[in-house]
Amino acid sequence: MRILILSRKRSLYSTSRLREEGEKLGHRMDVVDPLRCVLHMGPDGPAIHAGGRSLPRPGAVIPRVGSMGTDYSVAVVRHFELMGVPVLNGSDAIGRAKHKLACLQILASRGLPVPDTLIARYPKDLDRLMKLLGGPPVILKLLRGTQGTGVIFAENRSSVESVLETIWSLGEDILLQRFIAESKGKDVRALVLDGRVFAAMRRTGPPGEFRSNIHRGGVGEGITLGKPYERAAIAAARAIGLNAAGVDMLETADGPVILEVNASPGFEGLEEATGVNAARELVRTAAHTARRKRR
Ligand code: ADP
Ligand code: MG
Repeated sequence: MRILILSRKRSLYSTSRLREEGEKLGHRMDVVDPLRCVLHMGPDGPAIHAGGRSLPRPGAVIPRVGSMGTDYSVAVVRHFELMGVPVLNGSDAIGRAKHKLACLQILASRGLPVPDTLIARYPKDLDRLMKLLGGPPVILKLLRGTQGTGVIFAENRSSVESVLETIWSLGEDILLQRFIAESKGKDVRALVLDGRVFAAMRRTGPPGEFRSNIHRGGVGEGITLGKPYERAAIAAARAIGLNAAGVDMLETADGPVILEVNASPGFEGLEEATGVNAARELVRTAAHTARRKRR
């Protein structure tokens, strides 16, 4: 099958692993930068050009949408869907996952465990809002951060106030979230493929860091998830509508708390920590999904 990876750079770890494993499985793997795709809308319907020529129609698309040019990349995925090309993750689902507020709204509305989170525009009584979140301290999160950027630990009222003022003055919104101290700089990342957990790791941030992202120096260790964590991860991916998802959860005495659902999870840390072949399984999932959709 001709499989197209939408990725900013072919040299990225996950992108090159997908190519390598896809080729071993006998697929033809192409990489195209979504920001270099020209989307054509005309009387003959949607078409896509790249590198000055019309793009050959792939059998399946694997979107790897990062934080740069997200809206554009999501539009490229939508264009493929409108052309009838099967995509591993749909544009609507990627859009929901990319937006931390939308993601939490959906998870909470399905009754899934999320940290107490607030968003407000003119909080009259910051002390009361912070108390609702069991703080201070509280966590502040930009709506579109990734890899730990845009996640802020605010120790006291005045630091919360100064961050809020800065963000609002830029015309942005920000989430206020309960700081879950018992997670102690650790979290759990589960890779959910086609409705099951394929692999999971516990990540531990460097000393003094509350964020456990691999890109911030977090170290992963392979684990087998307990049933409540497995169920939560699968339900979270399904709620957002993703066929392939990286679900981040905190471990608490009351069980899992879901932080977010990633639509393009990296597997460098995961493959290293667990020894699983996540790239091969992701390509397989993409090919299965494509065959299922064509039927
Ligand atoms: P990102 O998209 O940047 O990865 P996350 O919501 O996953 O954003 O947060 C990054 C990391 O920060 C998490 O993996 C976790 O280690 C830590 N973290 C995030 N929210 C909380 C919280 N409410 N309480 C404690 N730790 C948190
Ligand atoms: Mg995360």
